[in-house]
Amino acid sequence: MEKNKKGGRGVKKSSFLVLLSFLLVIPLLGVKNTAQAATNFADVPTSHRAAKEIYYLAEGDIAKGVSPSSFGPNKKVNRAEAVTFIGRALQLNGTKRATSFKDVDPGMFASGYIQSAAQKGILTGYSDGTYRPYKEVTRGEMAIMISRAFGYSFNNTTSGAANALISRGIAQGKGDGSFGASDLITRADYAVFLARAINPKFRVVSNTVDFKNARWVNVDSLNIRTGPKDSYAKIGAVKQNQQVLSAFKVGAWDYIKYGSFEGFVHGSYLRTTAEATNAGNVDPRIAKQVIVLDPGHGGSDPGATGFGIYEKNVVLDTGLKTRNLFSETPFQIKMTRSTDTYISLSGRVSYAKSVGANTFISIHANAGGGTGSETYYYSAYQNPNVADSKLLASKIQSRMLNAWKLANRGVKNGNFHVIRENTMPAVLVELGFIDTKKDNDMLRSDYWRNAAAKAIYLGTLDYYKAKGYQVDALYDVAK
Ligand SMILES: [Zn+2]
Repeated sequence: MEKNKKGGRGVKKSSFLVLLSFLLVIPLLGVKNTAQAATNFADVPTSHRAAKEIYYLAEGDIAKGVSPSSFGPNKKVNRAEAVTFIGRALQLNGTKRATSFKDVDPGMFASGYIQSAAQKGILTGYSDGTYRPYKEVTRGEMAIMISRAFGYSFNNTTSGAANALISRGIAQGKGDGSFGASDLITRADYAVFLARAINPKFRVVSNTVDFKNARWVNVDSLNIRTGPKDSYAKIGAVKQNQQVLSAFKVGAWDYIKYGSFEGFVHGSYLRTTAEATNAGNVDPRIAKQVIVLDPGHGGSDPGATGFGIYEKNVVLDTGLKTRNLFSETPFQIKMTRSTDTYISLSGRVSYAKSVGANTFISIHANAGGGTGSETYYYSAYQNPNVADSKLLASKIQSRMLNAWKLANRGVKNGNFHVIRENTMPAVLVELGFIDTKKDNDMLRSDYWRNAAAKAIYLGTLDYYKAKGYQVDALYDVAK
């Protein structure tokens, strides 16, 4: 098939020698290099400053040309193209479909990636409900998008994202010391940033990654590749039960170090423990656990309001983000609502019972001028689920405090319909106060709603772990 990639436009530094050997070998041996023929953009000669990054992304079908023979390196990149490149890199679901943005048609080429990235919290739209797919991307927007896509911790500001990229050698400041956050970027530049984020060998600073996560190979022989797709060249292999060190993930792939090799392996063939015991495997009982997520209010019931936002929207989005995390696990996740629709309190309870829920988590935002997070359970001595409800509440509360670092309003007994009338362990989390500026700033932020979703997810895992289920392997989902 597409061989000779070792000498192709991989990540070799000695590109001059590679090119030289390429020119010499081909006429002598008459070898056809189909890989290169497939990705030969007339407007990106080998001498182009971004050639090796563009061809690297093209090799994994992460970047495609504006036509089969031209990449359009000098064209400005727009928001639809930018998210499509990232979506392909992270192997998000790119199937064209309806989105949560009113200006993105379901038939538009990027609709699938836009919706998947929105669900993952990688991108946000504008406050008027639009995504503006054809708007050109600034360096600042690019920095935020890449930081979110690759899970860099930053303080949700443009300068924080710029620093996250600069410290990793993905971007450099401009000559005058600024980042040029409002400058538009070209497709070539965007390809360079993205290639550097994916593969540290392209970065302008060395030793930017920490191979801190020990993993063990769970398959006879695991291929190491130059990129996070099966289409990338194989550079080596690791045998079963060998230890590798993982630095970070790109979608389902891990960037690992093994001996002198650094490259990508598919993460589904790695386990988190040295022994091939069930410690790296998920408890089979988990697949039978039904968790109902219950975003409060909806439709004609907006819930609490503050600073122009509605509780019903904030908690729905948080619920959807939580579902998204669970969707990568064997848990069965159901939602009382996944759209902006009204459901009565009794309707929520009867739904949970009808699907055989084992765990019920209601998500709300508080009001009344306070600040902080709190989680409720219902304490009635005749209810056999009190201890478990309280345990689940304490685990979610603890993760919420860790995530948002708002005041701890505690784990409380609350007489709320949905946790009182349910027949399974049930809790109600109040993320923060929608009518208090500090809390509202977090509730309205896509970034912090993602953090809340992770907290609910992790708190639920903590609960199952405390109940004796083997769930260690599921913590990585929230990384
Ligand atoms: Zn509420």
